[in-house]
Amino acid sequence: KERPQTVGEIISASSKIYGEKLAVVTEEQSVSYRQLEELATAIAANLQKLGITKGDRIASVVGNCAEFPLLVIACAKIGAIMVPINVKLAVEELQYIIEHSKPSVIISEQEFLDKVEKANQNASAVAEGNILVIGGENSYEQLLAKDTPFHQTKVTEEDGIFILYTSGTTGRPKGAVLTHINVIHSLMNYKLFFETDDQFTTLIAVPMFHVTGLVGQLLHMFYVGGTVYSMKRYQNEEYIKRILDHKINFLFNVPTIFIMMSTSEEFQKHSFDFVKKVAFGGSPIYQQTFTMLKRAFPNAHLHNAYGATETTSPATLMPMDYPESKVTSVGLPMTVADIKIMDPEGRECTLGESGELYIKGPMVIKEYWDNPMANQNSFTDGYWHSGDLGIQDDAGFIYIRDRKKDMINRAGEKIFSIEVEDVLKAHPDVVEAAVIGEPDPVFGEKVKAFVVGPNLDADDFTDLREHCRKSLAKFKVPEEFELIDSLPRNASGKILKNTLKNIGGKANA
Ligand code: ATP
Repeated sequence: KERPQTVGEIISASSKIYGEKLAVVTEEQSVSYRQLEELATAIAANLQKLGITKGDRIASVVGNCAEFPLLVIACAKIGAIMVPINVKLAVEELQYIIEHSKPSVIISEQEFLDKVEKANQNASAVAEGNILVIGGENSYEQLLAKDTPFHQTKVTEEDGIFILYTSGTTGRPKGAVLTHINVIHSLMNYKLFFETDDQFTTLIAVPMFHVTGLVGQLLHMFYVGGTVYSMKRYQNEEYIKRILDHKINFLFNVPTIFIMMSTSEEFQKHSFDFVKKVAFGGSPIYQQTFTMLKRAFPNAHLHNAYGATETTSPATLMPMDYPESKVTSVGLPMTVADIKIMDPEGRECTLGESGELYIKGPMVIKEYWDNPMANQNSFTDGYWHSGDLGIQDDAGFIYIRDRKKDMINRAGEKIFSIEVEDVLKAHPDVVEAAVIGEPDPVFGEKVKAFVVGPNLDADDFTDLREHCRKSLAKFKVPEEFELIDSLPRNASGKILKNTLKNIGGKANA
């Protein structure tokens, strides 16, 4: 039998096989595989009625709820490209993505509608009638076409399915274009390497609008016939309770979630011997967190998964039977991943030599949306430049050691320093600003800003914090500020971030 060519075909196949089995369970709703197919088809018909055709973009500002996967599948069926936007973004950030991706329709949850309307107005993007609202008093039923049939659309594996915006080195996010074939290869990889099947259940703690929640959990479970449980908002005690109640056997989280879980008394009291897979990625894991996971989940395979939005799914993964000596690595390259480690001169490094990871494969994106500069700078012969620095040992295991990109990784949320620095510099009292990631035991890193300005108060940064809050999502707003006389620079004027990281001076929270 030929493999499915599109995500729409995958869902149709699963709905035939798994019928009344539950596909998604949220606090409010349960959706079976049959309903997943039927409801998504009715939404697809509605989008067609609104004039959406193949290649059109549909932006969503929707958190973890049952409608989210329905929208994914509806868009996939008509070849529309879904742009799932981080719901935590501030108006200006939303506005940029709306302006750049030029959606024909925006779907917003009621609670985010205010900022969506403001952003849309500033961007002069979609007509009022093309903002569809879900949640609040609006049941998702208004997304469904009542009397219009769905028209089959020819979608191919090379067509785009998502544009996922990721932080960019220029201060503006870049839209990674994921195609159906990128996603299908990822799903096949997940099934093959995790050995998942219809006995698996997951409880999503990470956002569905990021690639791990979207492909690694939602679509992965739909592909193998598993069940996805989801919570609107992450809440530590509730998360643990639901894992126990539903005997969730597949967990895939950023390390921060596992660290938070381990602090709970409930977690320490219970046995989690029913958990079969524990995967983690998105940020480096501390050795002690790894040791804690081994103890807490005695029957689970532990998988460190390294990848990026641009690689759709892991590029490397810790194999099932890894040697103990390799626990600090991110595992081996996936079979279909072609990874090269390159020195700054563009030469391939020898084994054990540190360099930038270049990644190629059928799950790696080919381009960023409407961004010739990023496309030119980020790819060489189909290899995506990861911006991560690492080594490969003689057994093939990859170790991530550092980053070339000036980025902060706060609990898996990526923040490019330049985004925050640009906002700080726009404040009239700020003469200079530099932002670094300060090590944090729970979040991995948190945002710290060094600012220079004679009119700034070393003990009170309320005004500056407020200023940042207006233009940046809360997770990007510096948690610490420090006033210094001048920024350390090298002879050519480049700010020495490593020196700043070592200053560790008085921090004003
Ligand atoms: P998600 O956004 O769903 O969390 P992600 O973290 O894989 O997925 P991005 O947000 O694009 O994707 O971030 C990718 C970056 O995260 C990598 O370039 C790397 O710096 C870091 N990263 C991802 N996985 C790991 C890992 N296992 N160990 C260390 N760093 C990682």
